[in-house]
Amino acid sequence: MKSYKAYLSIGSNLGGRAKNLEDAIALLKRAEGVSVERVSRIYETRPWGNLDQPPFLNIAAVVTASVEPIALLDACQSVENRLGRVRHEHWGARTMDIDILMADGYEMETERLKIPHPYMTERAFVLVPLVEIAPDLRVNGKNVAEWLKLLDKEETAGVEEYH
Ligand code: ADP
Ligand code: MG
Repeated sequence: MKSYKAYLSIGSNLGGRAKNLEDAIALLKRAEGVSVERVSRIYETRPWGNLDQPPFLNIAAVVTASVEPIALLDACQSVENRLGRVRHEHWGARTMDIDILMADGYEMETERLKIPHPYMTERAFVLVPLVEIAPDLRVNGKNVAEWLKLLDKEETAGVEEYH
C-alpha cells in the first residue's frame, strides 16, 4: 500500500510520566510499518473531563505509516498495553494514551476508529504540541494553528511547556 503521514497525540498522567512518553516513542519506532518522523516538546496539561486526577504530560508526533489506519491503531494500543495501561474509565487517569488525530487521505467514523479525532480541534492539550510540529496541517477546513487561535484563554492556560 501507499504510505501516508499520520498524527498522534500521546499522554500520560500516572507513574514516571516523562519516561512513559519516551518509552512510547521508542516502542512506536520499533512497530512494524510505522516510522516516527517528528516529536514535539513535552507539555504539562490540566486534565480534561474528569478534573479530579493528576496533570498529564502530552506530546504530539508525526509518523509515516505503511499499514492501514486500523493496524496503526493496533500498534498504538499494543504500546499502551506494553506500558501497563489498565483500561479504567473514559477520560480517567492512565499511564499511556495514544490517539490517532489525523491520517492523510483517510476519513472514517467507526466505533473503533474515528479520523479525524472528534475532539481534536477543541483541546489545547492536543493542539499546542501539534502546532509545534505541524502548524499547516488542515483539519475540517482550517489548519491547526487557526484552530488553536480560536480556543479561549481558559482552555489554553491549562497547557504549559514542561522542563
Ligand atoms: P480516550 O482516548 O477517548 O480518553 P480511550 O483511550 O480509552 O479513551 O479510547 C477509547 C476507544 O476509542 C478505543 O478503544 C478506540 O478504539 C477508540 N477510538 C476511536 N477513534 C480513535 C482514534 N482516532 N484514536 C484512538 N482511539 C480511537
Ligand atoms: Mg485514547
